[in-house]
Amino acid sequence: MEREKVLDVKNLYAVFKIQKKEYEVLHDISFDVHRNETVCIVGESGCGKSVTTLCVMGLLPKNGRVISGSIEVDGTDLTKLSANEVRKFRGKKMGMIFQEPMTALNPLLTIGYQLRENLMLHRLVDKKTADKMAVEYLTKVGIANPESRLKQYPFQLSGGLRQRVLIAMVLSAQPDLLIADEPTTALDVTIQKQVLSLLNGLKKDMNAGIMFITHDLGVVAEIADKVVVLYAGRKVEEGSAQQVFNDPRHPYTVGLMKAVPNVDKDEFVIEPIPGMFPNITEEIPGCRFNPRCAYTKQCPLCTKEAPEMLEVEPGHFVACHLVKENAQ
Ligand code: SF4
Repeated sequence: MEREKVLDVKNLYAVFKIQKKEYEVLHDISFDVHRNETVCIVGESGCGKSVTTLCVMGLLPKNGRVISGSIEVDGTDLTKLSANEVRKFRGKKMGMIFQEPMTALNPLLTIGYQLRENLMLHRLVDKKTADKMAVEYLTKVGIANPESRLKQYPFQLSGGLRQRVLIAMVLSAQPDLLIADEPTTALDVTIQKQVLSLLNGLKKDMNAGIMFITHDLGVVAEIADKVVVLYAGRKVEEGSAQQVFNDPRHPYTVGLMKAVPNVDKDEFVIEPIPGMFPNITEEIPGCRFNPRCAYTKQCPLCTKEAPEMLEVEPGHFVACHLVKENAQ
């Protein structure tokens, strides 16, 4: 039986206006997220992963706009809704976890008050039931002594605990789609692992889909079912976590893999991707990766035409002229 899609992004194009001129920041981005699935959107800073998140949340800054494409959450196309309708829809269907939980938690209110209000608003329960549920949710996210934690203010908790409280808060609203934007980047490695394993464990329990944004392939390996690799506003590779990790085909994905330190090996060799990430105002004919790609000289098309997406095996897609040539 096919799993239900909670997010379906199709042919999304977005632009940002800088000094009266519009520049394309997303070009033909498509991907989907099913229930009980974690889809990681990966790439270096500036690749388009944060803009994609802002589009899905309906939170693009004033100088940004979606010019075409659709973003369906539970079958409703958010690009057809007004800003007010998107805000209401977001509150009901989507939950968000950010790198810094303090952006979502009110520093002046106790954890208990915030959780209770959230439960009363989203689950329509009375105060007494909400208090009981608050204890249950803190227990669910692995917080010991939940009753005493509820009396504390966010600043009294460590970064890892604050992130757990935020996860409890988001889960308590029972979202269909959970958006996690670099949620573990500010945490130390041990706590990071705990939060990732918590999200993994809760995925089934929530019956939600997770869109997980990260630049860290180590994190992707821990949590992803599916991986979407973006480069300079374009999707360059997509596949199951197994396909992308075991058999990366796009030279940029291969470069990202080599740029991750392998702590299992004795030697600690990191091979950074050569060259600079392009600025959005920069026009690059052909494949946007060509100035940094080691194979550009092998294929005359690389500097002339943008490569199309090719399915190299079921569910595994790559946009690269050389991969296409080799497959023919
Ligand atoms: Fe490299 Fe050409 Fe493939 Fe782009 S299309 S990634 S430049 S080989």
